[in-house]
Amino acid sequence: MLKPRATRDPLHEPLPFRDALAVWFGQNGRDYPWRRTTDPWAVLVSEVMLQQTQIATVLGRGYYTRFLSLFPDPATLAVAEDEPLLKAWEGLGYYRRARMLRETARAVTAAGGFPDSLDTLQKLPGIGRYTANALRAFAHDRPAAVVDGNVARVLARLLDYHHAVDSPSGLKHLWEVAERLADPHRPRIYNSAIMELGQTFCRPGVPDCLACPVSAFCKTPEPSALPVKTAKPKTERIHTHVLWARDRMGRILLHQEQGKRRQGLWKLPERTPEETADLPEIATRTYGITRFHVTMHIHECADAPAREGESWHPEEAIATLAMPSPYRKAVEALLA
Ligand code: SF4
Repeated sequence: MLKPRATRDPLHEPLPFRDALAVWFGQNGRDYPWRRTTDPWAVLVSEVMLQQTQIATVLGRGYYTRFLSLFPDPATLAVAEDEPLLKAWEGLGYYRRARMLRETARAVTAAGGFPDSLDTLQKLPGIGRYTANALRAFAHDRPAAVVDGNVARVLARLLDYHHAVDSPSGLKHLWEVAERLADPHRPRIYNSAIMELGQTFCRPGVPDCLACPVSAFCKTPEPSALPVKTAKPKTERIHTHVLWARDRMGRILLHQEQGKRRQGLWKLPERTPEETADLPEIATRTYGITRFHVTMHIHECADAPAREGESWHPEEAIATLAMPSPYRKAVEALLA
């Protein structure tokens, strides 16, 4: 891989570094809906959605615009019930984010609007250092630095930083560097630019250093080796056994989750391997969730007594219920 040699230090020459990023971004920056608004609510929704979901999913499948049309302001979400909220979030995963967003909406509504000071923002439920700074920069255009996965990668390569970027000391160092580099006069542009650099040329793996607007400031001779991260726990394979049970009226048996993570979501009822041993297996689906690789075995069952948390639902009602993606796909395939 060809990489131009660094001739400048961004920490010693932050002004030309910021200018190079700003010029590049002015000519090449992507047009996202959250970049067209200064409404802190719209910015917050985008930040929360993008925390664990790709831009292509959030935009391409219409989640962002649909969510904002259903909940156009914090006051609307503050009084929303679980069912429409989870339905609007269906397919994005990590449903805890949706409930936390409603907690934030309630606090903002009670306070009469969004604060813009860093301290007050960080006192809102669900708002940490990153989100508070993102709101300050993107909604209020106030001086603030952001460090997400993309920015951490760019900074580690710029500085040839070989400590784990996701360790407490690595993060502390990167936030310090980010605050020194951030542009106090163009915070919205600067932060959008450095994030976009991480999404495009300075991508994971092998970056495109020849096209990079700040290659003259980049110290690492071997960018594909960076950033260093702490070892992830190994993926664990697990098997679940679920029922595809329909009664004489064609209704489908579903279970509503009560656990913390997916509370309120509907799924196919789970049984032990022993309980399903004699039932025909009609389909399997595999999916990943956090560090688990799950194989879901689906067993057909003519009828089954509903257990606690389980109930029968007519086929036409299924589309209105909020379901985790793997279950939605399984149910749709079985109905088809
Ligand atoms: S793409 Fe990344 S690694 Fe390559 S020169 Fe630019 S900042 Fe450095």
